[in-house]
Amino acid sequence: MENKAYRGHVLALPYPSQGHINPLLQFSKRLVSKGLKATLATTLYIHNTMQSQSSSSLQFDTISDGYDEGGFAQAESIHAYLNRMETIGSKTLADLIIKNKNTANPIDCIIYDPFLPWALEVAKKFGIFGAAFFTQTCAVNFIYYHVHYGLLKLPITSTPISIPGLPVLDLEDMPSFIGVPGSYPAYFEMALNQFSSSDKADVVLVNTFYELEPEVVDSMSKVCRLLRIGPTIPSFYLDKRLENDNDYGLNLFISNSPICNNWLNTKPEGSVIYASFGSMASLSNKQMEELAFSLKGSKFHFLCVVKASEEAKLPEKFVEEIGNKGLVVQWYSQLEVLSNKAIGCFLTYCGWNSTLEALSLEVPMVGVPQWTDQTTNAKYVQDVWNVGVRAKVCENDIVEREEIEFCIKEVMEGERGKYFIENAKKWRDLAIKAGSEAGSLDKYIDEFVSKFINS
Ligand code: UDP
Repeated sequence: MENKAYRGHVLALPYPSQGHINPLLQFSKRLVSKGLKATLATTLYIHNTMQSQSSSSLQFDTISDGYDEGGFAQAESIHAYLNRMETIGSKTLADLIIKNKNTANPIDCIIYDPFLPWALEVAKKFGIFGAAFFTQTCAVNFIYYHVHYGLLKLPITSTPISIPGLPVLDLEDMPSFIGVPGSYPAYFEMALNQFSSSDKADVVLVNTFYELEPEVVDSMSKVCRLLRIGPTIPSFYLDKRLENDNDYGLNLFISNSPICNNWLNTKPEGSVIYASFGSMASLSNKQMEELAFSLKGSKFHFLCVVKASEEAKLPEKFVEEIGNKGLVVQWYSQLEVLSNKAIGCFLTYCGWNSTLEALSLEVPMVGVPQWTDQTTNAKYVQDVWNVGVRAKVCENDIVEREEIEFCIKEVMEGERGKYFIENAKKWRDLAIKAGSEAGSLDKYIDEFVSKFINS
């Protein structure tokens, strides 16, 4: 029987992938530090396979996506997965709310990922406060907003594209579902559908901070009240106000941390390239080969994360041939890597969490975006935040090894490299400021909590 007095109980429901779990998990920890009980609901499959659990007083519970044995991999298609998750997820979310109903801490608020708009319908059936938590940048959200409401017509027939608050964009800067028409229709529909519910949500939370994208925050704020609660990075790396908060605390993959730390700690400051393509992207065989040869051909040390499912795409004998010049691992706490002084550059696909982590830990980037919002994030890395370069894609849709090597040199050496480091320092300072006691994070958390808690 629970007897601790909480100010209220929040249930956080992320889309079941690493990049969506991490920010909601981190935001939930902040709520715990404000005296709330917070429960993170993952799918049963993720709960049964995840590698570790947060040491914070965050609680975990489950819903079902209808694929308890194999998760997403068990589904026949993306469409089938999303449909079944809506049906079974709605029912099991309702069961979870009912289970908590007659306890000392019934659920007062559901923070849901707008990739799962049905969660708001369930919350409203029970009269529960619903907060939409957007996990991508305001710029990307606002692009989808424009498409959803017909303010930007598809297909795009003329460029550059003008959207209030954003820099002028070419087709290659748009989220890939728009820039490459017809690609991943089910995911595109999901991205647009975020706005099918968000105007009914009681609050809209966004994982960003003002200085990163002031014009678009101002523009989007005219159509909805945004609470900017980014950057959702473990406190140890920014404000250090939460105890023992040096990791997100939930890994879907097995980490090789000790090996990596030992290896990195022998390398001089700023001498290592860190390359990773995240939890979801799958590179073509040719792209993996170009990437591998660019790292091998560059004069710098490198640490490269290649998920188990991608390993077979590496060139034959790659690992043997690189010797001590490089280290290839299947997964590693990215925050630990990025905060290691040996890292001089992040060769990244520009996933939003990864980009925000690099900005917060002052690591310049080479962007090789693959899909979804990564293309727009890469545009901002190069042309708005000025913390790196975006590699050019050839006609065959591949970024070739010479181009990657050239970009790495631009970031690791010379005047341009120094300029990126200076800017990166500025972004880290602003990220720390946003997460500090007097910053926007606390201000908006307090405003958020006051909306559903009286005291
Ligand atoms: N990540 C990690 N180790 C890795 C690669 C990624 O811990 O080797 C984490 C990273 O810190 C980030 C998340 O996984 O928080 C990936 O999210 P992101 O939005 O960057 O990309 P996604 O994986 O969703 O494409």
